Amino acid sequence: MDPHELLPAGERWAAKEVTRILGAADISARWDWSGNNNGNGEGVSKPREHRLRVVLLPSEPSGPGWGLAASTLGTTVVDRVSAPPAVYVFYRSVTSLLSRSQRRSRNLSDPCFLGPTSRVLGRVVAHEVAHAIAPAQPHASSGLMQAGLAPALLTAKHDVAIDEQWQRVLRAGLSQLCSERAGRPAPADH
Ligand SMILES: [Zn+2]
Repeated sequence: MDPHELLPAGERWAAKEVTRILGAADISARWDWSGNNNGNGEGVSKPREHRLRVVLLPSEPSGPGWGLAASTLGTTVVDRVSAPPAVYVFYRSVTSLLSRSQRRSRNLSDPCFLGPTSRVLGRVVAHEVAHAIAPAQPHASSGLMQAGLAPALLTAKHDVAIDEQWQRVLRAGLSQLCSERAGRPAPADH
């Protein structure tokens, strides 16, 4: 998840938040940290193996093909041709959102920094993972799948969840992805 080691102690906390949010939608997530060693920052979600890469980047990339607004928190790249799909989350946008919402600047040496940052990161990742599973589904009117991801929701100390309709969409989307995978021949080993 964190090939640039922006938040080395926080990635597992963030992953725990993602696992909790997806778990509330009856989707179990499993994390494979081996991708961190080769810079791919790979996360793996199950069941029946639908794999996603989750990558924490310092800031949103500019340049052709991205077209992201400043302060975008995260984005999903789903390309059915080249697997696996990827979720990118942008560290600087997350920390500046936290600074704004708490009206004070954040210092990395502050031990209070890690928990809230990891929680926000986890929520942004969960939102983007949901988009990766159901890319055609529009945003919800409540819960974690709302458009724009309100700072109050991301930083809330209480648990937040994906609304029920989106949870159903996610379960259906995941079974579809898994059945598509089952119907495809295994990729050749080069
Ligand atoms: Zn969204």
